Amino acid sequence: MIIAIDGPAASGKSTAAIGVAKCLGITYLDTGAMYRAVTFGLIDNNIGFRDSLNIEKFLEKIEIKFSESPSGLLLALNGRDITKEIRSKIVTDNVSEVSALKSVRKSMVLIQRKMGEADDCVLEGRDIGTVVFPNAEFKFFLIADEKARAERRLKDLKNIGEQSSIENVMIDLINRDHKDSTRMHSPLKKSDDAIIIDTSDLEINEVIDKIVNIVNYKGH
Ligand code: C5P
Repeated sequence: MIIAIDGPAASGKSTAAIGVAKCLGITYLDTGAMYRAVTFGLIDNNIGFRDSLNIEKFLEKIEIKFSESPSGLLLALNGRDITKEIRSKIVTDNVSEVSALKSVRKSMVLIQRKMGEADDCVLEGRDIGTVVFPNAEFKFFLIADEKARAERRLKDLKNIGEQSSIENVMIDLINRDHKDSTRMHSPLKKSDDAIIIDTSDLEINEVIDKIVNIVNYKGH
């Protein structure tokens, strides 16, 4: 069973997807973290975003591993833990440019399909219901108003010790969504058959319950 959860930045996808996976006892895959890992890797290896040859070489040898820990999900890129680094400003500022590259998408989608096919899985991202798993049994598209999204992102940033203001966070979110939804390959888009959930005024448990109830009602 595949549950696809897509939506714009800070619409509550990650928290919802983690909760749904826990509730149903199935695997969770944060595909945004994978694009962030590639972005970090390119910057860390001084590979320019237009250097297609070296990007291809980097992608050929890439190893992305998720593992659970008491403090949450950990992500390792080629054996190095980069859980914190992928949330940094430099990665967030550049991830939309990197995720727009065809070679990067091709390579990530392959890994995502492999992981999703191995197990029942909740995948969250931007193109899960449209491109990665267009035949997913369940598709959701989470939205929230800009203020709610900016407040959530500001809280996340504070948790990792980064300073910003609500205005700056809002501008960053709007810019990133614009880039993600206007790119040529696999743009951020609601799949026609996805169920929209507006999370602006919902507690996280209410979002999780809504999704789990729909999955249980339809059966799986
Ligand atoms: O979800 P998160 O904000 O961590 O995603 C980071 C970025 O990764 C997005 O802004 C987008 O550019 C890219 N992304 C994507 N396709 C996905 C998931 C994320 O292009 N399925």
